[in-house]
Amino acid sequence: MQPIQANGYTIYFGDDGYTALNRFLAEQNYSKIFILTDTNANEFCVPSFLSQLATETPIEIVEIEPGELYKNIETCVGVWNALTELGADRKSIMINVGGGVVTDLGGFVAATFKRGIDFIHVPTTLLAMVDASVGGKNGIDLGTLKNQVGVISNPKMIVFDTAFLSSLPQMEMRSGLAEMLKHGLIADASYWEKFLNLEAIDVDGLDALIYTSVTIKNTIVTQDPTEKGIRKALNFGHTLGHAIESHFLESEDKKTLLHGEAIAVGMVLESHLSLAKGYISGTDYDTIKSTMNALYGVISFSDDDIAAILQLLIHDKKNEFGKIQFALLDGIGKVRIDQEADNELIVKAFADYK
Ligand code: NAD
Ligand code: ZN
Repeated sequence: MQPIQANGYTIYFGDDGYTALNRFLAEQNYSKIFILTDTNANEFCVPSFLSQLATETPIEIVEIEPGELYKNIETCVGVWNALTELGADRKSIMINVGGGVVTDLGGFVAATFKRGIDFIHVPTTLLAMVDASVGGKNGIDLGTLKNQVGVISNPKMIVFDTAFLSSLPQMEMRSGLAEMLKHGLIADASYWEKFLNLEAIDVDGLDALIYTSVTIKNTIVTQDPTEKGIRKALNFGHTLGHAIESHFLESEDKKTLLHGEAIAVGMVLESHLSLAKGYISGTDYDTIKSTMNALYGVISFSDDDIAAILQLLIHDKKNEFGKIQFALLDGIGKVRIDQEADNELIVKAFADYK
C-alpha cells in the first residue's frame, strides 16, 4: 500500500513503515528513543516492534496504565518525570506505541516537554489507526471532560502495522469500527455500504478498509488542520457521543462506554437531527439506526441520564458563543457543518432511539 502524505509527514503501511522508520532514525541522530506505551501494548506489541528496530540509539520504555481513566494530567506528570529521570533532552524522540490514549497523551507530553520534542505514532488499536493517530490532535481529559486540554502538533511519521490487531479484543475492534462507519457516512456512500449487514469484522480485507478510512480522515484534516471548516465534518456523532461518553464515565453504577460505542449512539441521535431538519430520508435514518444497533446494541437512557447529557453538551469544545454545534448528515456521504439543534429536538432524538 502506497504511503499517504499528510501535513508535513508521511503515513506508512506494512514493512515500508519499519524501513522508513529505521532510515529516519539513522539520519536524525537522536540522543535517546523513548517508547511510550501502556501495559497491554507493552505486552502484546512492543516486543515485536522492538524486533523491527535497527538502531544504535539507546532505547528506554516508559509504561503507563491502560485506559481512558489514565488520559489525564497526573499520568502526564508521571511521564514528564520519567523522561527527566531517564535523561531525556531536546534531541530525544518519543515513539508512542499503543491505542488512542497513548497516542493522544504521548503526543501532548512530547509537544510540551522542553517546549516540544519530536514524536512518532505507532497505533496498535483499530481506533488509533483509523482515527486518533491521524490529524495532529493530541490531548488529555480534564476530570470527566474529554480532550479538554491539548495541542495540535504533528508526528514525524505514523507507522501502521495491522498485525498488532491480532491481540485486540473484539470489543475494541468494534470501537474502532464506529469511526470507519462514520467515515463512510460523512464522505463516501459506497464505503458506508460495505459495512451494511456486517456481522463480524472480517480480518481479510480489513487492511484495505483501514487504508480507505485513513485516506478519508487525512484528506479532510490536511485541508483544514485547525478545524475552521471542513474538519468539523469529523465531529459527526461526536457532539452527543462525547457527552454520552463523559456521562457514563462520571456515573459509578454504570459500565464505562468505549469511545466507539458512545459515538455509535451519537451517530444515530445526530442522524435523527438530520432527519428532523429534512437533510436525510427516513429510509436512510432507519438503515443507520438498524446498522448501529445491530453492531453496538441499544443503551437505555433514563430521563435523568438525558438531562445530565444535555448539561454536559454545554462544555463541548465545539461550542461557539454558547451555541451547541453539530455536524449533520446531508444525505449519505455528505455533511452540513455548524448546525444548531435545540434541546427539544435532541430529546426527540433520544425518544426515538430508545
Ligand atoms: P485505548 O488506547 O485505551 O486502547 C484500548 C485498549 O486496548 C486499552 O486497554 C489498551 O491497553 C489495549 N490495547 C492497545 N493495543 C492493543 C493490542 N494491540 N492488543 C491488545 N490490547 C491492546 O483506546 P483507543 O480506543 O485506542 O483510543 C481511544 C482514545 O482515542 C480516546 O481517548 C479518544 O479521545 C482518542 N481519540 C483521539 C482522536 C484524535 O484525533 N486525537 C480521535 C479519536 C479518538
Ligand atoms: Zn471519535
